[in-house]
Amino acid sequence: MTAYRGRFAPSPTGALHLGSAAAALFCAAATLQARGTLVLRMEDIDRPRVVPGAAEAILDDLAWLGLRWDESPAQGGPFAPYVQSERFALYEAAIEALAARGLVYACDCSRAEIARVASAPHAGEEGPRYPGTCRPFGMQKRDFKRPPAVRLAVPDDERARVTVHDRVLGTYTEHVGHGTGDFVLRRGDGVFAYQLVVVVDDLHMQITDVVRGGDLASSSARQTLLARLLGGTPPTFAHVPLLVADDGSRLAKRDKLMPLRDHRDAGRDPRALVRAIARAYGHDLGDAEAPLEALAASLDWSRLPRESVRVSAIVAR
Ligand code: GLU
Repeated sequence: MTAYRGRFAPSPTGALHLGSAAAALFCAAATLQARGTLVLRMEDIDRPRVVPGAAEAILDDLAWLGLRWDESPAQGGPFAPYVQSERFALYEAAIEALAARGLVYACDCSRAEIARVASAPHAGEEGPRYPGTCRPFGMQKRDFKRPPAVRLAVPDDERARVTVHDRVLGTYTEHVGHGTGDFVLRRGDGVFAYQLVVVVDDLHMQITDVVRGGDLASSSARQTLLARLLGGTPPTFAHVPLLVADDGSRLAKRDKLMPLRDHRDAGRDPRALVRAIARAYGHDLGDAEAPLEALAASLDWSRLPRESVRVSAIVAR
């Protein structure tokens, strides 16, 4: 049996909020339950969005919550470095490996051009589905209108039909070509896309289990496909439902209840906060003195709500 390796992968783009803390907590508890190895990876790939000091503050807040890592930027480990901005060579090599098999192409379409030709009745945050205009040209050099992005040429056939295993959402099958279509692996400005780096890192760090916030559930099929195309074994997922406001609307990260630091500054006992988060997510730990260990001992994914959780279940306004 493969040894369980879990990871928490925050982006240092702001303060750690309660929703991320819940995901980190379940990530740590699941790893502890499996007697696995817990990895902390700092996802600072998108340099312009990085907030100075945020990485240190996030690690500090997670430590306050009682979480400890086996491998991390500070401790190192067999797959160091654990900071994405120091791992460019791996991402470049992955794109080259895909290019050698004709699985990527350069794309110089602008957003406006894509919007014009794409049929996008369901265009979400990620914009309309790319219509494949540049696909026939592959990676060959052309007279580009702008620095080109690199897209994955999602196979049109059965290879793009992937089955995702999610401990919270269940097992489901999706054809990536019929869904999001050819997605970006490196942006025109040279920044490697989240979808690429997270897969390359999870494979390289031999991650078996990804526990993360529910807002990333829509990425699982793409990441499963990409892991396969890179010759690896995709992880099993568990998406922890998001925290929402009492009226069910999405909570802004700047909501006063959200930053973990505020609870800390208010003198709250971190163990009480851990128990409150666990209770809101279906695990009543009573007044356990070691709540992380208690959660690990009783963790049962079927008890998590499938939908979002109201923040007032954790903290009163
Ligand atoms: N770095 C991502 C974020 O903070 C999470 C990536 C992941 O868990 O797959 O939103």
